[in-house]
Amino acid sequence: MAPEIKYNKIFIDNQWVDAVNGKTFETFNPHDGATIATVAEGDKEDINAAVQSAKRAFHRNSEWRLMDASQRGKLLNKFADLVDRDLDYLSELETYNNGMVLTTCRAFVGAAAHHIRYNASLADKIQGNTVPCDGDVFSYTLKQPVGVCGLILPWNVPVLMFISKVTTALAAGCTMVVKPAEQTPLSALALAALLAEAGVPPGVVNVVPGFGETAGAALTHHPDVALISFTGSLEVGKLIQQAAGTNNLKRVVLELGGKSPLVIMDDADLNKAVPYAAQAVFRHQGQVCIAASRLFVQAGIYDKFVQKAVEIAKSWKLGNPVLETSQNGPQIDETMMNKVLGYIEKGKSEGAKLLTGGKRVGTTGFYIEPAVFADVKDDMTIAKEEIFGPVQSILKFETLEEAIDRANATNYGLAAGIFTSSIESALQFSKHVEAGIIWVNTYFQLGAQLPFGGFKESGIGREGGLDAVNSYLEVKSVTISLPKKV
Ligand code: NAP
Ligand code: MG
Repeated sequence: MAPEIKYNKIFIDNQWVDAVNGKTFETFNPHDGATIATVAEGDKEDINAAVQSAKRAFHRNSEWRLMDASQRGKLLNKFADLVDRDLDYLSELETYNNGMVLTTCRAFVGAAAHHIRYNASLADKIQGNTVPCDGDVFSYTLKQPVGVCGLILPWNVPVLMFISKVTTALAAGCTMVVKPAEQTPLSALALAALLAEAGVPPGVVNVVPGFGETAGAALTHHPDVALISFTGSLEVGKLIQQAAGTNNLKRVVLELGGKSPLVIMDDADLNKAVPYAAQAVFRHQGQVCIAASRLFVQAGIYDKFVQKAVEIAKSWKLGNPVLETSQNGPQIDETMMNKVLGYIEKGKSEGAKLLTGGKRVGTTGFYIEPAVFADVKDDMTIAKEEIFGPVQSILKFETLEEAIDRANATNYGLAAGIFTSSIESALQFSKHVEAGIIWVNTYFQLGAQLPFGGFKESGIGREGGLDAVNSYLEVKSVTISLPKKV
């Protein structure tokens, strides 16, 4: 049964309101394309009202700014308890609005609660230093929240993205306006209600559903916003960086996807490497920024590996994401499905060998069979551009040095992995690959404690871990003159 849709309006000042212009938009279930809710469509006026609310909540005399840091941590822990309480509901909502299989949603919502508790524990550990300066002075640093933040979310992992950005900003003491993706507004609204229930004061977190070109752009151009944290496409990331410098100078945190290499050495344990490589690119229909979409396999095991990879892809179970038997659900929408199918056609026409899958399944919903391409060359489109779909591209290499250079021959630099039984190979690879996240004999192994983000055009800044909270803080140095003698 479909989960009840409890919230479909704009959330400002802990109140549910309609859009100023009265507009709404429909949100769909990607399994069958059916409308599941009509949602208020925020625009410039709504963003402005939300920013003003966040600005009031950031005033030095506000309840939020006067709150002890340990109390901020307590509120976050309460929020984590509420997310745990509503884990079933939030997971179902995510599945219905996003198409992620329910078992994965449950894992992500659980991980999100863990992420909240990590950030809760940081709230009262944000501290400066005393600094031994020359002269008769006493100097110290303060770390203070940057101000009103604009958080712009993608549709691929909505609950975790909301929680990662919002609770890091809350731990730092910021206030914020969140714009969820047009495809997946519902979980952000449900989480906003839980923040209010946890006792987060009005105005600290506001959520304005709507479209990127209108609501999103209004947020990135707003002069009272101090920082934008964005996850999404490189193309929009560049627009956001430009907008951030237009009416004021916003700090930016950008997480912009990738074309992540996974390298399988001749000495790897194939029983482990083959299934990991499949998970690394097929999981969540390939709609993952860290997907291993360039799979480099060493020449000595190439043919054997490809054969096993095809067997796994053929056995992959597609189906309604609410069913436990489904390994993959649908792509998020028709546009993305057609984009992925377009890449598959491009792969074939450029000479890569499609060994299995790659076709749409059925005519309702947006399902694509996992595809395996062999004989992929570095200059083919499928080896260069982010596909965001279940497409495994297998490339052949001879030496580790060659694999490292080819892994680095991309504008992206988010994640990278290697399967090998040689510690030397693992260390060389980890040192020389230009990526923010490296995995050895594993993939997708994430933790709230670890920084997450990319080199090069994969982004700016980090989410997760201590590096993330620092993005939401300004450092202030204070120097006090001391008498020469006492
Ligand atoms: P997108 O357009 O970059 O959207 C991400 C977020 O930015 C959405 O909330 C979007 O609103 C908003 N946005 C769009 N244009 C904006 C603007 N001019 N100013 C401010 N905000 C704006 O990504 P997408 O359309 O969902 O997906 C396109 C591609 O992005 C995918 O094929 C994939 O390659 C990549 N992607 C990457 C990630 C990642 O994790 N790095 C996640 C999702 C997608 P709307 O919802 O209205 O567009
Ligand atoms: Mg978009």
